[in-house]
Amino acid sequence: MRVLIKATSKASPVYLVSLCFFLVVACAPEQDRVYRLEGRTMGTTYHITAVVKPGVAVGENTLQIEVDKVLEDINQVMSTYIADSELSLLNQVSVNQPTVVSQPLFNILQLSREISALSGAAFDITVGPLVNLWGFGPEAREDKQPDENLLAQAKARVGYKNIQLDAERLQVSKTVDVAIDLSAIAKGYGADVIAELLEGYGIVDYMVEVGGEIALAGESPKGVGWRIGVEQPSLAQTGVAQAISVPKGGIATSGDYRNYFEVDGRRFSHTIDPKTGYPITHSLASVTVIAKTAAEADALATAINVLGPEAGYQLAVDHKFAAYFIIRHKDSFVTKASPEFDQYRVKL
Ligand code: ADP
Ligand code: MG
Repeated sequence: MRVLIKATSKASPVYLVSLCFFLVVACAPEQDRVYRLEGRTMGTTYHITAVVKPGVAVGENTLQIEVDKVLEDINQVMSTYIADSELSLLNQVSVNQPTVVSQPLFNILQLSREISALSGAAFDITVGPLVNLWGFGPEAREDKQPDENLLAQAKARVGYKNIQLDAERLQVSKTVDVAIDLSAIAKGYGADVIAELLEGYGIVDYMVEVGGEIALAGESPKGVGWRIGVEQPSLAQTGVAQAISVPKGGIATSGDYRNYFEVDGRRFSHTIDPKTGYPITHSLASVTVIAKTAAEADALATAINVLGPEAGYQLAVDHKFAAYFIIRHKDSFVTKASPEFDQYRVKL
């Protein structure tokens, strides 16, 4: 007995220590992990913050690799900067030659068509030839106004109705020699596809940003809804014009203050009005749109930006889109928002 007690008492400290350790591991609630991923894609950067619950198996490094792969795949479908992308090849197909395309490309062409139709072709992915002429496409840039004849020729190739879509066969054919440019929707689409990837792993709290366009859901690492700042549309004057909180969906901004060139003090935006063939010139500095998906928000933001502060605002009101406008006024800015936007406003 004594021996036994002695033996036990000798062994017990080790035993107790290991038991405590076991209890701590078993009983302490497992912590959420926060993954922060980033990289480059589509000529810009992306950032992802995800709050990962204990039951989610995927590790941060694996997810980073998968995100990069997904984005690479999207680029290989949609980029006009990759000579053998699916889109570049489609752009080379002759007129009236039906071509079967991948489901992602078909989906984005279909969504683009819908947004062209509802915006009276303010958003039009066939602006490619004009974008190139103005020096904002894959071809080398010359910071000058293009020749009028070339502009007229390019404009004759523009028109979303010149693309025919057959959903049953996933077939695309063009009735005019159009050149498709998905730059105004692809970043939003990329954010949506990453959001789907995260959700596939059971991650429900995330913020995905690709080149400023956002897909988000759930809560931030602080345990509250994500707070997003709509930027002051001035490179000199940084800051947040309006903070918003969106439970789930897409947010995109289209503005004239980042990608433009100037000749003789005149600013030429990379957003082209397909009707005139010229870059937009009105006083709208930026418009931010909240929609179900980032792809929709991205395309709608470009559409409203083309339409400008009055017609764009009217479109948002008529279709109940949540949109926030920052308008140049003398040396400063004024803002206005569609009624649907107000529910998302928060104080920072
Ligand atoms: P922003 O964030 O300012 O809207 P995006 O990158 O989303 O910028 O879209 C601008 C790009 O979209 C241009 O560089 C051009 O390639 C293309 N684009 C320009 N005008 C139009 C238009 N009216 N419709 C669709 N795409 C356009
Ligand atoms: Mg856009």
